[in-house]
Amino acid sequence: MKAISGTNLEQAKSHNRRVVIELIRTHGSLSRAAIARMTALTPQTVSNIVEELERSHLLVAAEAQKLARGQPIIPYSINPAGAYSIGLELGRRRASGVLTDLSGAVCARIERQVEHPDPQQAMPVLQSIVEHLKQAFAFDQQRLLGVGIALPGRYAEGGTTSLSPQSLPGWQGFPVGPELEQRLNAPVLVENDATAAAIGERLHGVARGLASFVYLFLAGGGGIGAGMFLDGHLYKGSRNNAGEIGHIIVEPHGRLCSCGKRGCLDRYVSPSVAYDFMGIADTEGLSPDALDALIDRGSDGLDAWLDQAVQPLRQTVDFLELAFDPETIVLGGSLPTSLMRRLAERLEPLHDPIDPGRQRTVPRVMIGMTGKDTAILGAAALPIFSETNPRFDVLQKPVG
Ligand SMILES: [Zn+2]
Repeated sequence: MKAISGTNLEQAKSHNRRVVIELIRTHGSLSRAAIARMTALTPQTVSNIVEELERSHLLVAAEAQKLARGQPIIPYSINPAGAYSIGLELGRRRASGVLTDLSGAVCARIERQVEHPDPQQAMPVLQSIVEHLKQAFAFDQQRLLGVGIALPGRYAEGGTTSLSPQSLPGWQGFPVGPELEQRLNAPVLVENDATAAAIGERLHGVARGLASFVYLFLAGGGGIGAGMFLDGHLYKGSRNNAGEIGHIIVEPHGRLCSCGKRGCLDRYVSPSVAYDFMGIADTEGLSPDALDALIDRGSDGLDAWLDQAVQPLRQTVDFLELAFDPETIVLGGSLPTSLMRRLAERLEPLHDPIDPGRQRTVPRVMIGMTGKDTAILGAAALPIFSETNPRFDVLQKPVG
């Protein structure tokens, strides 16, 4: 059995530093006095942390606001150029990479054509993308936090090795993270696409500042997964497979699923099912704009897909609300924005909530990031999250 770990001064320092970054990130800019008030840290501790973060370029001071009396107030904000991150994505036909700054803004992007690559073919391509990204934009390379890669799939016993690009052969058991790390000589973080997208949404998107939300990720290539932040923790489950909700049965004795069961959510709501209904055989052969135009135009096939998808999705939202009591459920994914919009429009009315009298500050369902960049921006968020998110398992201090 794992012992409960204690905290020492170093851990507490690192945690407090992360709490300050997170607070400034969610509020835009804050003075030292405001940070001290909101974190319950002493003014001296806050001063030390802010000075250290300013020295390491993660924070910048804005012009001091002069007051009629007393010391002028200096607001601090996140310095976008204070750190950088690289996100990678690998599909059947396309390998891509982005370089983002600390605010998540894309500074450079590179795409390469691939053809159903096995690991031996893909690794040099990913390595070359990273090397070119580092040359494509002028920045202090000491400030590169690391490289994130988002992959669809489940975790095998003991780690990340069974995550693999969808329906590509030769990836089962391949150690993506350690192999890339060796080639790139930089920290590499591997995460499943739904969790990576949830992290991106919490750092830079509609879930910024939310402690509890469920992100429902609809993968363009098929498959539905959930990324979960519960009480400020990223929740991953006992074997890292929490959120595999695409395989919840929504239709007993329904359509056969790749997992062997019948009637799974995936087989009704996945974008790939939408394309089947619309008679589009090869979405990777279409440009995202062409696909968007097809969906915007509408068709009998699209309507038929929506008709059979909306009830299973509504049921899933109901289940997630009842099971986890989140502040909101974010719908997003690497599917065309027009497809997500159509689905979300049809979702109302939702099932009655268990607490109809509740005062809500955010809607029950929100639309998060959609489009082809969703997973790759989530991947780029991984090193930033790992470096700056408060570690609630180290120690807990009320914030706000
Ligand atoms: Zn299934």
